[in-house]
Amino acid sequence: MNASADVTIIGAGIVGVCAGLFLQRDGLTVTIVDRVEPGMSCSFGNAGMICTTDSAIPLPSFGVLRDLPKMLFDSTSPLIVRWRYLPRLVPWMVHFMRAAPHERRMAGARALYDLLTGTTAAYDVLAANSTVTSLIRRNGMLLIYETDEGFEGDAAERRILTDMGATLEELGSDEIRQMEPVLTHDLRHATYLPESYSTVNPYKLTRGLADDFVANGGTILQAEVTGLQHGNGKVTALETDHGDMPVDRLVVAAGAWSARVAKMMGLKVLLDTERGYHTVFHGIDTGLNRPVLHGERHCGINQMDDGIRFAGTVELASVDAPENLKRADNVYHLGQNVFPDLDPSAATETTRWMGCRPTMPDYLPVLGSAPGFGNVWFDFGHQHLGLTMAARSGQIMTDLIAGRDPGLDLKPFRADRF
Ligand SMILES: Cc1cc2nc3c(=O)[nH]c(=O)nc-3n(C[C@H](O)[C@H](O)[C@H](O)COP(=O)(O)OP(=O)(O)OC[C@H]3O[C@@H](n4cnc5c(N)ncnc54)[C@H](O)[C@@H]3O)c2cc1C
Repeated sequence: MNASADVTIIGAGIVGVCAGLFLQRDGLTVTIVDRVEPGMSCSFGNAGMICTTDSAIPLPSFGVLRDLPKMLFDSTSPLIVRWRYLPRLVPWMVHFMRAAPHERRMAGARALYDLLTGTTAAYDVLAANSTVTSLIRRNGMLLIYETDEGFEGDAAERRILTDMGATLEELGSDEIRQMEPVLTHDLRHATYLPESYSTVNPYKLTRGLADDFVANGGTILQAEVTGLQHGNGKVTALETDHGDMPVDRLVVAAGAWSARVAKMMGLKVLLDTERGYHTVFHGIDTGLNRPVLHGERHCGINQMDDGIRFAGTVELASVDAPENLKRADNVYHLGQNVFPDLDPSAATETTRWMGCRPTMPDYLPVLGSAPGFGNVWFDFGHQHLGLTMAARSGQIMTDLIAGRDPGLDLKPFRADRF
């Protein structure tokens, strides 16, 4: 295999594709390598929310740690651990716990806030003059609550976010009903996040952007990277199942598999996966106008162009463990009561799916040069916000590779921060 490009990217998920497009805009020739077609891994089936600074609080907290034991013994809970995987997860869990104290959490929130500033604007750049613009909604999202206690429980987080500058609006039952008449009337509160975007089809969005990338002269090669040739602080070639491929500069955007790619360079990265599931009832149009995240049941619901999607939950297990599609049914059961009139038997087809979110223990992605390597950059670990942060991360990669200041402090996102 002989494909020479200024920059080679491993990974054709939303993160790799967005990086490819921004690098192209900078006048570079780019090749993306993936073992599957663009958008067929985690970027395929997410909930489609493109958030902004309104989602800047990292997950690790004493609240989550307090609820963890209860969740671990309940197979229907939004968070479960495959027990066989637990020993391998210990180092990740230790750092998850270390990220929970208030000061650490706030430092993470400030870093995420900076990164999330400009997420939607970055998509506007990519969507301008592209057919993908029709896949993007620009009308916010709702975080919904059935109980006063649930809403009050998140008051401190709302305060932190608004203090940092995020735009959030608190809504009561009547306002929710006006905004989304199809939702159950049992909802007592919601937080409206007016600046968020969403997509009606994350797969088509990734695929459409990949088509733009190719139309602009980019190359996408379908091959599995099995090794990296390196020496003197440089990666010189990819070893793939289709032969070796020389590289000049390399971006690793291999999602949940990025730690394995880093290992090929002799680097240890504390990345793991939070597997999530979805169920889609195809052919059903509920009339929901914007995505909804249930603040108490931890389930995302979005009206896609091909049906209504229930997505979410976390399963801590290896990327290689077989999927457990009962978890996909469980996601639906968590969220089903928000649509009193939904009749799943009316679906033309019901599909279930599992995807591997790439997640670091402190819930900050890895963005920056690979430690000890002069021609490799890391762009992975985007956790629950990979669709959200992909375009902005692509801009940052492009600035770094061009030697420009990306305009934010990247120390919190270093690969060797643990
Ligand atoms: C249920 C669920 C709901 C979600 N909802 C949202 C949401 O609403 N909003 C949001 O912002 N995020 C959401 N996410 C998270 C988001 O989907 C992910 O963070 C994002 O898709 C990660 O993108 P990626 O490009 O890093 O990874 P991927 O899409 O997984 O792409 C990585 C690619 O790298 C390739 N690769 C890896 N190793 C190799 C190798 N050795 N050789 C060749 N190719 C390789 C893989 O084949 C893969 O295609 C959700 C996730 C889940 C599971």
